[in-house]
Amino acid sequence: MEKTEKKDIDWGNLGFSYMQTEKRYVANYKDGAWDDGMLTDEATITMSECACVLQYAQTVFEGLKAYTTKDGRIVTFRPDLNAERLEASAKRLEMPVFPKEKFIEAVEQVVRANAAYVPPYGSGATLYLRPFLFGINSVIGVKPAEEYQFRVFATPVGPYFKGGAKPITIRVSDLDRAAPHGTGNIKAGLNYAMSLHTLMDAHRQGYDENMFLDPATHTKVEETGGANFLFVTKDGKIVTPKSDSILPSITRRSLVYVAQHYLNLEVQEREVLFDEVKDFAECGLCGTAAVISPVGKIVNHGEEICFPSGMEQMGETIQKLYDTLTGIQMGRIEAPAGWIHEIK
Ligand SMILES: *Cc1c(COP(=O)(O)O)cnc(C)c1O
Repeated sequence: MEKTEKKDIDWGNLGFSYMQTEKRYVANYKDGAWDDGMLTDEATITMSECACVLQYAQTVFEGLKAYTTKDGRIVTFRPDLNAERLEASAKRLEMPVFPKEKFIEAVEQVVRANAAYVPPYGSGATLYLRPFLFGINSVIGVKPAEEYQFRVFATPVGPYFKGGAKPITIRVSDLDRAAPHGTGNIKAGLNYAMSLHTLMDAHRQGYDENMFLDPATHTKVEETGGANFLFVTKDGKIVTPKSDSILPSITRRSLVYVAQHYLNLEVQEREVLFDEVKDFAECGLCGTAAVISPVGKIVNHGEEICFPSGMEQMGETIQKLYDTLTGIQMGRIEAPAGWIHEIK
């Protein structure tokens, strides 16, 4: 890709909020087929007041980042997995699939068109990409839409941890984010709507995030509103919850591979009882935004679980996982085949 003049942005002090960039990708689905799709300047969407997305929340999304590697390439991380997950999400909500090749092409086009907003290597900032798909025609009697729009926009976001990753405190939520046999395993806005009240309540009580337990029995660990759990046992094994109602995080799946193949650690993906959590040595949350956020303390109705790694820094094993995966992403460590997708 040709060198572009970067925007005059204070990359290190960007937060995680929407900044309108120049171009976004739009494709429309009508009469049973997708059109060719194109880049547009138009950041606003006009639709019927009765659009299916507005009335019945028929919308699914993805989140990934474009960034600059050590050797100056602009890349995205495993966008094929985002395309596959969007496909699974779309099918669950009776929406047409946006083809994987077209998805990757759309991501490439948006990154290329907004190259001036891709932060430089070492800034810690990234260009966050948000692909999404929603039902756009009027629907009043309950049924899926017949017309859909797929979009990808880009917005620059700052380093997730300014001045080092401080462990966070989370609490066990009484409310659930997903139903048993529901939609917890797809990336849909509706799961986030479900979690907003308990998230704000957690914040008002002084907690950073919620830990959700399995909705049927409230005895097993699921995830937070937007990140999967990774635990480290006292003898250095990685444990991550397995459940049909958690979202299959690409970061978590990548960290499991890194643990097994780069760090020679044993990984157990299995049901995790909340009662076991007090015996773990380290805890982290994994997702695209932060890669891993260390958890220092979990509070369950006044009862505190304090991890031995403490409230000052990441635990040793989580730090190794973090350093290895971010090293792979940034081109400092050799990546497994197909993980780094260069935008040419
Ligand atoms: C997006 C998301 C994650 C993290 O997934 P990544 O692919 O790692 O970004 C975890 N949980 C939920 C509920 C999510 O929506």
